Formats: sequence, C-alpha cells, structure tokens
Amino acid sequence: MRTDTTSVLVVGGGLTGLSTALFLAWRDVPVIVVERHPGSSPHPRAVGFTPRTMELMRAVGLSGSLPEYKGDGKGVRRIRVESLAGQWFEEQPWSAPGKATPLFDYTPTRNGGLAQDRFEPLLRDKARELGADVRMSTRMLGFEQDDDGVTATMRDDEGVEYQVRASYLVAADGHRSPVREALGIERVGKGFLGESRSVLFRAPLEEYLERGYVQFMIDQGDFGGAVMSYGDGRWAFFHRNEVDSDEDTLRAMIFRALGRSDVDVEIITEGRWQLTAGVAERFADGRVFLAGDAAHTLPPSRGGFGANTGIEDAHNLAWKLAAVLTGASAPSLLATYDAERRPVAKLRHDQIFLRTQGAATDVETIDDAAMEYGHLYRSSAVLGAGPELPPARRPDQWLGQPGTRAPHVWLAPEVSTLDLFQRGWVLVTDDPAWDGLVDGVDCRVIGNETGKADEVRAAFGLNPGGASLVRPDGYIAWRAVDAPADRRAALGSALAEVSAAPALATS
Ligand SMILES: Cc1cc2nc3c(=O)[nH]c(=O)nc-3n(C[C@H](O)[C@H](O)[C@H](O)COP(=O)(O)OP(=O)(O)OC[C@H]3O[C@@H](n4cnc5c(N)ncnc54)[C@H](O)[C@@H]3O)c2cc1C
Repeated sequence: MRTDTTSVLVVGGGLTGLSTALFLAWRDVPVIVVERHPGSSPHPRAVGFTPRTMELMRAVGLSGSLPEYKGDGKGVRRIRVESLAGQWFEEQPWSAPGKATPLFDYTPTRNGGLAQDRFEPLLRDKARELGADVRMSTRMLGFEQDDDGVTATMRDDEGVEYQVRASYLVAADGHRSPVREALGIERVGKGFLGESRSVLFRAPLEEYLERGYVQFMIDQGDFGGAVMSYGDGRWAFFHRNEVDSDEDTLRAMIFRALGRSDVDVEIITEGRWQLTAGVAERFADGRVFLAGDAAHTLPPSRGGFGANTGIEDAHNLAWKLAAVLTGASAPSLLATYDAERRPVAKLRHDQIFLRTQGAATDVETIDDAAMEYGHLYRSSAVLGAGPELPPARRPDQWLGQPGTRAPHVWLAPEVSTLDLFQRGWVLVTDDPAWDGLVDGVDCRVIGNETGKADEVRAAFGLNPGGASLVRPDGYIAWRAVDAPADRRAALGSALAEVSAAPALATS
C-alpha cells in the first residue's frame, strides 16, 4: 500500500479542520486534510462569527473576503415574535441583563456573517493557496500511533486505500468524532438535549432584517420554532414538530411562521440535528489532538460558541505544532493545548446554561466582552497567571495580564496592535533599550514620538521602560511592568520558559 508523508494530518474538513490547515499552512507547516464528503453540506449550520474569529482571519489575510453580519453591527440579535409579519414582542438577549457590552471597542474587527457552506470553501481555497493538501471525498478508516508519529489508513472516492504517515494528527472530525471514540475519551457536560428539525428555504424577506434582528423566535402558543436568516436570501425554520416532509406540509408550516402566504418560498433542503453539550475529558492523547466539535459541543440554540471555539482551538494549536516541528520548542509545549483550551470550552459550556437557566450554581455570569476577549490561559507557556485569578475578565479589567489576549489599540488608521503579532514572539515596549537583546524576539518599540505610547502602556499595564512578551498567537506570555535591572537575563529566561525552548541563544 502506498504511504504519503506529511507533518500534520487533519481529519475532517469542516470549519475547524480547514482552519487548522489554514493556520498551519500560513506557518509553512506541511499538512494534509482529509474530508469524507465531496463538499460542504448544502444545509449550512453556523452563520454568526465573532470578532475574535474575524481577528484570526484578519491575521491570515482572509477577513476582506468575509462579510460583516447583516443588521446593525451588534452581531446576532433575536426577538420573540408571533410571526415575521405579525406582532413583535421583546428582544431575547444572549447575555444576562447588564452583562452585554459593546464588543467592538476591544477589537479592530466586527462580527462576521456568512453561512457555513460559503465560509468553508473560502478557508479551503486559502489553505490550498498557502500549500495545504486538502483531499475531499477521502475517509480516514483508522489510525495507529507510535513514539515517532501516526499512521492512518485512507480510502478515496475510487475505493483506493493508502496510508498517510504524519508526526501529529488533529481530529477535527465533528461531534461524533470517531477518533475520540477510538481513543476512549469520554465527554462531560449536560449531554443529549433533544432533537431539532429544520427546513432551509429561499424567500425575499429582507424587509424583516431592517431593524437589526436576524433570528425570530416564533411564539403562537401551540406552534413555535425559530426562523433565522443566513444573510444571503436563504432562511431556515427550526422546529420540533413531527411533520411529514412533503413540500405542501413544509410550505404551510413556513407560511404559518412567516404570518403570510403571499411570498415566493423555494424549499432547498431539510435538516435533522441532535443537540448535545459536552466537553472531552482530555483534548490530547500522545500525538493526537482533538479540536472543534470533536473536543466540545456547545449548543447553538444558546449562544453560537460552537464553530468560533473550534476555530480558536485551531489557532492555539497551530503555532505550537509549528514551533515543535521546527525544533524551536520542545514537545512539552504541546501539553499547553489541553491546559489552555479545555478550561475555555468548559467555561463556555457552563456559561451557556447559566445564561439561559439563571444563576442556579455558584458560577458567576460573565459578560460578553470577557467571554469574547478575556479568557485567561494558565499553563507553562505563561508566567504569572496564578489560580487566584478569575477565568475571564474584560480587557479593560485585565490591563495586559499575562495569559490573556494582547489588547487592541489603534496605532494608525487601519493598523492595530494586533497586527504586530502572529508571526513570532514580539516584545511590546516604549524603550529601545530592549531591542536586539534576545534572538527570536521581534522588539516593537512604541515610543512617545508615535503619540500612542501612553495608550499602549495603559492597555498593556506597563510603566515607562517596561515590556510585554507576546506569543505567536497574540497572547501575553510574560511582562516586566517596570524595566528590570538586567533586561537581557529577564527576557531570556522568560522566553526560554514560556516557549519551552530547548536551547536559548542570546546575542
Ligand atoms: C443548526 C446549527 C447552527 C449553528 N450555528 C452556529 C453559529 O452561528 N456559530 C457557531 O459558532 N457555531 C454554530 N453551530 C455549531 C457549528 O456548526 C459547529 O460547532 C461546527 O460546524 C463544528 O465544526 P467542526 O469542523 O469542528 O465539525 P464538523 O463541521 O462536524 O466537521 C467535521 C467533519 O469531519 C468529517 N469527518 C468525520 N469523520 C471523518 C473521517 N473518518 N474521515 C474523513 N472525514 C471525516 C465530517 O464529514 C465533517 O465534515 C451551529 C450548529 C448547528 C447544528
């Protein structure tokens, strides 16, 4: 049997797998993705993408192709209605009262609004353009791992079987995850929540989007469901009615939800969804990593964290795999993936239920900006993020706390501090005395002459002469609030520790 070799094998070509491939290829890591289907599912699921997801896409040059969410720039808004044409009642916020904050003061981006079946091809094309080998209609049949790598057996659409040998495997194979099952990794959480059905249709209903709402919770007493817009003329009606699938019945149900029957409705397809909530007990096993729904299912009916969390997993993992594969970091860096991402998934899981079921537990309800931009990573790739700190806060509360995403400050029109990060390790300071001290660190001096030094120091929590070390994923790894006596020694030992560098060269 033929054997193809690569550095990273990604199983699953959905949003998470394709994002993993894109972020790896962007870092010049050889990667093969296998997806058993020939293309994206004709029934899109996700449509709402967070500003953080858009920040990650901005970093790899894709955000220009992604439209902003239709509406008023506030992202996914929903309202309880009798029907679209009937009476409209109150808005149903995603957050607890008083916990919603304007999201985009903290970011150079906005919410992305694009149906999953349009987003996936963009990711696929960009990943391929950067060198990823994306193989559609190819199913992984099984895999084995040893001390040096993973060997997986594939079957292509012509029935030809072959092997792929890779250093690492990323399982982005969805919520049923055959890879997770094969590894015997259990999930913890609320579990099965119920089944939902949907009918996807095309109809000219743009007039109902004008007030900024994109999801309509239908409440007619004995009849209910949710009508949601995919922002491109397509809509879906989600319901739990056990009805026949013939066109007349589906059309009658749609007309009832719309509150009118004088509109052209083209039925595209139907869907049936199992809603589950759970987080894998571990996100890694040897050389295999779980990402996206394989690692956590976060129900869409309660927040829209699902795909966005998967894309963030992919981003967290990609720079670490790249660093280990090039030998810049020891394999121990990879243990920080589970340490950093599993608590985020667990927190999101708990917040989803807290937000909708009230504060019945001792978990505090966390506001939107903290959930979006303020997760704290605690791992060996961060110095100074102790157990006494809360799991998430807003960037204006953290003020550059190591373990959190480096804050956004506009440095010039269209240039954010976030644009300084992603390629490698970056030191942010106002003092040129830090420049050139340690190999592998790109020192960015934002001095008083820029007119931005005060703002940057305040956002990063630095005094004049201090410095923040930012990881290749834009998270703060370490900082010296004031200049230490020996800058080179302080920075060198911090970098060696957080990057798990086998040998650190100082110039
Ligand atoms: C109705 C609905 C609406 C949603 N809306 C939102 C939203 O607005 N925002 C949001 O963030 N999330 C939303 N979600 C959640 C989101 O859709 C999922 O979190 C996301 O699709 C997960 O992506 P993934 O790549 O991890 O998994 P998947 O999309 O499930 O992809 C896994 C892929 O792996 C492939 N695969 C599996 N096994 C193999 C194998 N052995 N070999 C080859 N290929 C294999 C599958 O074919 C599949 O394509 C929604 C979900 C639903 C159901």
